[in-house]
Amino acid sequence: MLNLLLQTDFKNNGSNTDLKRFRQQSFIIEYLYRNGKASNPELAKLTNMSSPTINKLIVELIEYGIVQDLGYGDSIGGRRPNLYGINPNAKYIISIDIDCRMIKMGVFNLRNEAVSEIITYFDNVKNKQQVFEGIFKRLDQLLSQLNYKTSRFLGIGISLPGLIEAKTGETYSDLLIDGLSLEDAFQNRYDLPTFTGNDSRVMALGEQAFGAARNKNNVLCINICDGIGMGMIVNGKIYEGKSGFAGELGHINVVDDGDLCTCGKRGCLETVASGTALIHLAQKGISEGKQSVLTELTQGDLHEIHVSTIIKALENGDAFAIDLFSKAGAYLGKGIAGLIHIFNPEMVIIGGKVARARHFLIDPIQQSLNKYTIHRIKQDTEIVTSTLEENVKLLGAVAMVMNTLFEQENALLN
Ligand SMILES: [Zn+2]
Repeated sequence: MLNLLLQTDFKNNGSNTDLKRFRQQSFIIEYLYRNGKASNPELAKLTNMSSPTINKLIVELIEYGIVQDLGYGDSIGGRRPNLYGINPNAKYIISIDIDCRMIKMGVFNLRNEAVSEIITYFDNVKNKQQVFEGIFKRLDQLLSQLNYKTSRFLGIGISLPGLIEAKTGETYSDLLIDGLSLEDAFQNRYDLPTFTGNDSRVMALGEQAFGAARNKNNVLCINICDGIGMGMIVNGKIYEGKSGFAGELGHINVVDDGDLCTCGKRGCLETVASGTALIHLAQKGISEGKQSVLTELTQGDLHEIHVSTIIKALENGDAFAIDLFSKAGAYLGKGIAGLIHIFNPEMVIIGGKVARARHFLIDPIQQSLNKYTIHRIKQDTEIVTSTLEENVKLLGAVAMVMNTLFEQENALLN
């Protein structure tokens, strides 16, 4: 991080004493970034260094504009300690979230706060070239409004939908733009390191850094959008599997000989419990004569049924909509029961737009868990909906950039 913050190559230029100092300062920066603030005695204790040494390192970091003096903190007996924190505007991160149908982007500071407007618009993610042309155009506009030099940015983080083409096995991150990989295309255009991640794993990173999974080591984050994906935090780390495909929860089989799934198989969890499935089941039920407030909400146009419309119907106490979510929740619960037996997680976070149904979805999941899990194992697991709401993946992509840069620097220094 120091490397990027100072725009120097200290590994090649510095002497051994410099390297030691960089290592110590790098630790302080990462600690302050992750914990918000710390006092000199706290840092001295953590690093086994003397208070004067810490002071010297901090004074230098303040001169560089990376660290800020935050003034006096609360006393724990004796003199009130002076607190230090990261200068939030020392550097910025560009974050992009390509969702089921919606694309978002924004610029964040080192306190993980948005410093630009969050641009949100709809696009058809199936047309990949068009998606990226649209992103380039809007990002160019956003950056020209901010008018910051490239050197003020640390990198770009992109959350990508976990779509896998059934025929080719191609994923969104395999995409080439003008013969370049996605990362290289962004890196070339903006001259910034670019990192991409599967949306469910990016969501897990967001929950781990800023949400319900903070300070937890074993958490499953289930992302229910058009499809169903899962990010897994195992022993504090994101689990990816051999080829990065771990967490394809949507494609476990739950219905024998069920409906055809986008993956080419039949009866996947996605065919009965995803956003796409809920819309399809709502349309089917109504065209077969089921009574529902959805008819009124959409003025009879079944194509106007979205997940948000069904959630609106739920909130109106619509029995048909409640029934749809009960069935979806029961299938999800069955899938999650299997996961709980395998992973023994301390928490399962349900996120994505379908999770905005909150207790209408969580209650049937719980009922299904009561039915299918061993009580002693289930007791360990808390089931919650995400509290980070819409910006979880933008924040997750910021965390992805920061985690990767810290890891790279630590590898370089150690
Ligand atoms: Zn499938």
